[in-house]
Amino acid sequence: MRITFLGTGTSQGIPIIGSTHPVCLSEDPKDRRLRVSVLIEWDDYKYVIDCGPDFREQMLRENCSKIDGIIFTHEHSDHVAGLDDIRPLCYRNGSMPIYAQQRVVDSLKRRFDYIFDAHNKYPGAPEIIVNVIKNKPFALPEMKVIPIRANHYFVDVFGYRFGDFIYLTDVKSVPAEEMHKFKNTKVLVVNALRITPHLSHFNLEEALNFIEEVNPERAYLTHISHLLGFHNEVEKMLPKHVYLAYDGLKITV
Ligand SMILES: [Zn+2]
Ligand SMILES: [Zn+2]
Repeated sequence: MRITFLGTGTSQGIPIIGSTHPVCLSEDPKDRRLRVSVLIEWDDYKYVIDCGPDFREQMLRENCSKIDGIIFTHEHSDHVAGLDDIRPLCYRNGSMPIYAQQRVVDSLKRRFDYIFDAHNKYPGAPEIIVNVIKNKPFALPEMKVIPIRANHYFVDVFGYRFGDFIYLTDVKSVPAEEMHKFKNTKVLVVNALRITPHLSHFNLEEALNFIEEVNPERAYLTHISHLLGFHNEVEKMLPKHVYLAYDGLKITV
């Protein structure tokens, strides 16, 4: 399985428009972060988790002309706002399957009403196939995916396990009854927003404590704010098996 970090930034991205924070002004390409998403590939299949406002740029950067489906973690704008930009993929390859819990599908229907209007569909609107998922394993071709329910303040988010790989973002806590799903994780991706605590996201300390509890072979931090600091400085502070993800990073699991 190959994983590409399409984006690793928090909701505003880095740099933030108009910001003069040193991390926003950094010339290091690793300090430039688009909104979070990953591309997961196995055999000839390609799926993305989330489809944020930078989706178009991410597809162009990775030279991606085919996606077999989009799996959503939750309905916040930084995770869904790029849905209209799947149009070139639909024109090329046909309808796009999406996978999300019912509440997230309902939110997409409000945000993108013209996509879901079965009677008076706007010509050229994206064609999607909705797959409503629950907190139960579901099948993709040659792959079982296990959702993991976690808390993002009062919003329920889904993380996903693909084989020995787990992707979890926008998490503030993971309920005890979900922890068995992390057994024997090889690679864990988890959010770490900044140094100081935040209402709805792990800060660095909480993310590192969580990684210690899961005990994967390797872990990557994502959904990063400029307030976490410079990529190269933060990475030096991390335990040996923990890395700061950056846009364009590719790993094999
Ligand atoms: Zn987010
Ligand atoms: Zn969120």
